[in-house]
Amino acid sequence: MRTETKQRRLSDFAHGPEERTKDSIFGIVVDATCVYYRPQNNKYASVVKIVDQSWSQISHPKEFAPFVKVLFMSKTKAEVPHMKHIGSVIRFEGALLKLIEEEKRKILMFFWDAVTSSGKWLLSSETDNSTLTSTGAPQALSQAETQTLEELKKFSRFYLKEQMLMDLTQNLAAARAANKEFDAVCRVIRLSPPRPQSKGFVVYKLLDHTDKAYLHIPDSLAAEFAYIQPKDFVMLKGVQYLDLVERKIEMKEHGNVLTLPTKSAVVEDYRKLMNIFVEGMDLEEMVDEKRYMQPTEVSTTINAFLPLSPLRDAVGPRGLFGKKYRVKVYVVDMGPREVQDWVKGYCPICYKFFFLTEADEENRAKCRICKKDAKLVYQVQLFVKEKELRDTTTVSRLLLFTHNNKGTEFFDNEPPANCHRSERLCTKLRTMCRMLTHYNVYLDCVVERLTRDPNSFLQLVDTVVKFKQQ
Ligand SMILES: [Zn+2]
Repeated sequence: MRTETKQRRLSDFAHGPEERTKDSIFGIVVDATCVYYRPQNNKYASVVKIVDQSWSQISHPKEFAPFVKVLFMSKTKAEVPHMKHIGSVIRFEGALLKLIEEEKRKILMFFWDAVTSSGKWLLSSETDNSTLTSTGAPQALSQAETQTLEELKKFSRFYLKEQMLMDLTQNLAAARAANKEFDAVCRVIRLSPPRPQSKGFVVYKLLDHTDKAYLHIPDSLAAEFAYIQPKDFVMLKGVQYLDLVERKIEMKEHGNVLTLPTKSAVVEDYRKLMNIFVEGMDLEEMVDEKRYMQPTEVSTTINAFLPLSPLRDAVGPRGLFGKKYRVKVYVVDMGPREVQDWVKGYCPICYKFFFLTEADEENRAKCRICKKDAKLVYQVQLFVKEKELRDTTTVSRLLLFTHNNKGTEFFDNEPPANCHRSERLCTKLRTMCRMLTHYNVYLDCVVERLTRDPNSFLQLVDTVVKFKQQ
């Protein structure tokens, strides 16, 4: 007869001690690598990030990261759990606890090894209640454990938020422009029919609200990823473009594809965002000229009559200093990444810009250097592509900033405020960002070169965003 193991919540471990724990630990999977080989100790491994009610974005001890890491290791691949679904619940016991420092924050980390951890792990699938996978023989859960499992499943349904995933990921268009390893949330449209150039690979066509891409998984790994189905919403982990023109993506060795829980609010949000209501609808069908929307208007009467120019005429040395160009562009991304940083402090004495923090007042800030009153200004970048050349990989940067309240008309005449203290302004800016980066929205705007320097950036002027309902 198995002796009843004690159950503990993640927050119980925040202050150590760093030792092997016999207790059983439960957590919701929010992120995970696939099972990969670690040559340094000749073992297979997967790294999983988990949360529970006691340790989430809201409830974790502040000096720690908002998730807990678990490293599973074994000599055999089958003894390491391959996480396939965000929102699954994992239970494990016999892991070694360590408190580690990573990028200036502490992380609570458990090491589970098939040899040294006498206990087991067990995984429930969010998509199918009856599916439980585990190491070794099937394990029976005690009544208390079954209850914990059910409570965590409930918690995972409301815990997962679109904004949270957006903060962790990039959109496809921005990732293609950056051309680095990235994570993204996408929808699987269908399995692509085999093409001569994709021999040896299973190809998944993916779509988000900005672009499409083709995920190539080698035939040798096809069985491991066979759970990916058309219409699934998935989180791609550790992927990179191999071919920017063909939009070919491949997974890194530790990369993974995790499905999002089908009947959850987060998937409903993404569904709306991606606007794919019609079964089998494709991006080619969606980018229909009639469906394009233009949420902006040009604000001054004179500039409203400016003829349209191609963006390439305004960019770089070709653009004339002092001349205004009216252009039509797509916005693929906006920065800084966090809208809290869209409003900055600007010191009129030392001419320095600085980020605001929660410590600054809502409508006032002091210069970090001369301690005098500074001004609050919007300072935002728009990464844009020319409307007529949607498929081009050239992304240009438009700067948008306000000065003496000039330019605030772009933000619906909303005066800049410290976003760390104004959730209302944050929400408004997020809505704006989402609207502007939507796949079928373009910006009709006026730009001019910032300085005489032929390589200077373009700034956006005389443009108003109309907050109309879609
Ligand atoms: Zn100053």
